[in-house]
Amino acid sequence: MLELPLKNFLFIIMNLTFYGATENVTGSKHLLQVGDFKLLLDCGVFQGRRSEANEKNRNLPFVASEIDAVILSHAHLDHSGALPILVKNGFVGKIYCTSATKEIVKYILQDSAELQQQDAKYFNKHVLNDLKKIEALYDKEDVKKTLEKLTVVPYYREKSIWQTANENIRFKFLDAGHILGSAITVIEVTENGKTKNMVYTGDLGRNESHILKSPEFPTENIDNLIIESTYGNKIHRPIIEAEKELQELINFAVVKKSKIIVPAFALGRTQELIYILHNLINKKLIPNIKIFIDSPMAINITEVFDGHEKDFDFEWWQDFGKKNIDVFTAQNLYFTKFSQKSQEINNMEGPMIIISASGMCEGGRILHHLKNNIGSGNNVVLLTGYQAENTLGRRLRDGNKFVKIFGQNYPVQAKVLSLDELSAHADQTGLLNYIGNCKNLKNLFLVHGEKNSLNELAKKAKEMNNSLSIDIPVSSQEFDI
Ligand SMILES: [Zn+2]
Repeated sequence: MLELPLKNFLFIIMNLTFYGATENVTGSKHLLQVGDFKLLLDCGVFQGRRSEANEKNRNLPFVASEIDAVILSHAHLDHSGALPILVKNGFVGKIYCTSATKEIVKYILQDSAELQQQDAKYFNKHVLNDLKKIEALYDKEDVKKTLEKLTVVPYYREKSIWQTANENIRFKFLDAGHILGSAITVIEVTENGKTKNMVYTGDLGRNESHILKSPEFPTENIDNLIIESTYGNKIHRPIIEAEKELQELINFAVVKKSKIIVPAFALGRTQELIYILHNLINKKLIPNIKIFIDSPMAINITEVFDGHEKDFDFEWWQDFGKKNIDVFTAQNLYFTKFSQKSQEINNMEGPMIIISASGMCEGGRILHHLKNNIGSGNNVVLLTGYQAENTLGRRLRDGNKFVKIFGQNYPVQAKVLSLDELSAHADQTGLLNYIGNCKNLKNLFLVHGEKNSLNELAKKAKEMNNSLSIDIPVSSQEFDI
């Protein structure tokens, strides 16, 4: 009888554990274990109610020093914000990301450290009981150590090279079309000559993005797909309709001399909005209205865009590139870096558009603009992205008549409008299209969505492919794959 070496009978244990963005949209952390090797997919912070989020963020659900490597899908805080906590707790491996992500995440993490320290200082000043005092999750030194671990991996389209994580695992980055630098990861695990492929979408963008390339499909057969589900229960109108509405809104605001306040993520949404507005002005569909980008972070990140034209879409080339026009420079477009200038905007007369962070109105200069302008029926608050539960943005979106800003109640007289179509996330059709384009897919894991969204997407995916195994993981749930 032929004796096979023992190792041919040993199968590498391969499992996936979901530690964040399970039945919600924050704190993305998914752990792939292949044998002894632990590969973490994203390491984001939880956002939402302060005490709950603080508790979850402070205590990592795994031993940081046991993680061998991290793949970072993109720079948003809910995917990257816990990296310094990981490093602070003993992680010594590499953090793989694209070149744009490396540049952007520096600003995101430094800003996060600073905000946490300010927040802790403010909070502790008002708390008499020493035991209740809080400490920032990390400081700038922790961020510095984290940034040293960032290892750039080019998109596969650039060099057609797979990146090796260890002897059994290699991976490659595809365009995700969500924000600059965002990547879909295809992971290939080989064992005894057999391979298994997995895809992690991170946050999935839309084909309609003006600046970024569309999400790319994997060419391999895919055994396991982890896909985000933010808009799993929603179908966006075509973006062209949203832009038409925006155009009408601006033209109306000009007549009324209104201020349009736009809470927008400093990263991604702000640059897409500048693109749309600049294009509308170029086509003479709106007048040359004053546009203020009131966010130091947005300014830093817009500068990163300037060095990454290779990651831009052909649409950008047609509208701006070939005409040698800089998207981010226009006659009435002002970037306000310093807070004094920001305060001056308050004393100016409309019409104007003020784009400021944060996108869900949870902090930053947008709060001052809302406080000063929300009480006038002549003004407009324009929400352009997803508003998570328990955020001020969600309360505005839900039509609350009064909202609390800096601990004080303000009546909401301004008109509140939502243009989800400007979102950087794929809608239900986009998500199903992505699932449908993963060849021979066996297992589907739905993450990064609220319950209704996840359930609806699961139902639709099942209708599309009855043989698919679909899971909506709960926190810390483990799957053998
Ligand atoms: Zn994101």
